[in-house]
Amino acid sequence: MTDIEQRRILHTEIPGPLSRERHARRQREVPSGFGVTLPIFVERAGGGIVVDVDGNHLVDLGCGIAVTSVGASDPGVVERVREQAGRFTHTCFMVTEYDGFVEVAAALNRLTPGDHEKRTALFTTGAEAVENAVKISRAYTGRPAVVVFDHAYHGRTSLTMAMTAKQMPYKHSFGPFSPEIYRVPTADPFRGAPAEEAYARFADVLRTQIGVDRVAAVVAEPIAGEGGFVVPAEGFLPRVAEFCRANGIVFVADEVQTGLARTGRMFAVEHEGIVPDLVCTAKALGGGLPLSAVTGRAEIMDSVHVGGLGGTYAGNPIACAAALGALESIERQDLAGRAAEIGARVLPRLRELAGSVPAVGDVRGRGAMLALEFVEPGGKTPSPTTAAAVAKYCHERGVLVLTCGTYSNVVRLLPPLVIDFELLDDAVDVLAEAVRKVAG
Ligand SMILES: *Cc1c(COP(=O)(O)O)cnc(C)c1O
Repeated sequence: MTDIEQRRILHTEIPGPLSRERHARRQREVPSGFGVTLPIFVERAGGGIVVDVDGNHLVDLGCGIAVTSVGASDPGVVERVREQAGRFTHTCFMVTEYDGFVEVAAALNRLTPGDHEKRTALFTTGAEAVENAVKISRAYTGRPAVVVFDHAYHGRTSLTMAMTAKQMPYKHSFGPFSPEIYRVPTADPFRGAPAEEAYARFADVLRTQIGVDRVAAVVAEPIAGEGGFVVPAEGFLPRVAEFCRANGIVFVADEVQTGLARTGRMFAVEHEGIVPDLVCTAKALGGGLPLSAVTGRAEIMDSVHVGGLGGTYAGNPIACAAALGALESIERQDLAGRAAEIGARVLPRLRELAGSVPAVGDVRGRGAMLALEFVEPGGKTPSPTTAAAVAKYCHERGVLVLTCGTYSNVVRLLPPLVIDFELLDDAVDVLAEAVRKVAG
């Protein structure tokens, strides 16, 4: 799958001298608004390993934020990209057509839940997919309002920033925000209301505050990603979807982070048997190249006037070629099954940590989308400093983990689904050591 040795190897401290030199230059050339989780410069990456310019092999438990599920140099992706780039790089699908676009659309129409007739529109980024799902829902229903949830992350554009919950860093100083966005609580098993109560609140807000007949779409992540890997209490989302169906509201699943095998199913809504009207995908879709999609019921998707959807780069041919390679790898290697195996292997070890270290308030997730939430021992007060210290400990030992969460107190694991199990175990050993040393 890759010729990079699948082993953690540290030649220098992390970040090493060559990375530090490059990072200093970057600070002179790139605005400081771009944060960085770990300032190492990457030379190569593949399987479960990232090789930096100092020659260190780090274990990748982040996948560039859930993107490189098939690895960062999957041969199926790389070969198709090479082949396509050699033929043509761009036409703009709104100007002249090409097969790759239609093939990706057909694959997503086949793979997404439900056997109804579907259409897929391709775009470039996750935020763009979510924006277009809103535009399509408004066109179809003739209604203005959009309902989103606590902990939601939907992107950084003007509209999706309004839909995103967290103020710092995503919204701070960037308003005013797009109107007609309404936020309701989710069923957060650790901090919030149980399913029944959260659902009652949801239905009440739509009925009494917004007006059900003004709601175009309810947009939900099946697992809140940036918001802290919050898995809604069982039964909540199916009832929300049912409410939408009964009231002519488009139910949109934002599967940008959860979709395409990450959670142990092709789509995370499948865990609860939900069939969304529209599904947004991105991240893992392009196998590392920028590609996103809205897939949904033909009558909804076709309700938009001709010329109303598009984008210069929407469904770029090289990105489509990459996606066809990524989708083939996901299906052929049964990476959904692999994600479930990763969960079955890692989750018990995280639970064991939660049982023995009081600063681990919660352990949760599905498949290869797992998280530890850190608190002040003895309660639920978030401890972002502990999460940051655990991540730092891992980074210094060559394990690339990411943090997230509304309270920035969650360490999340998003390993490539192709990761070697020995390598994964080694990385989890480092994480366990980090938790015991830093938080124990
Ligand atoms: C990352 C993400 C987005 C935004 O995707 P971009 O490609 O960064 O615009 C939207 N929704 C969810 C759930 C995400 O995780």
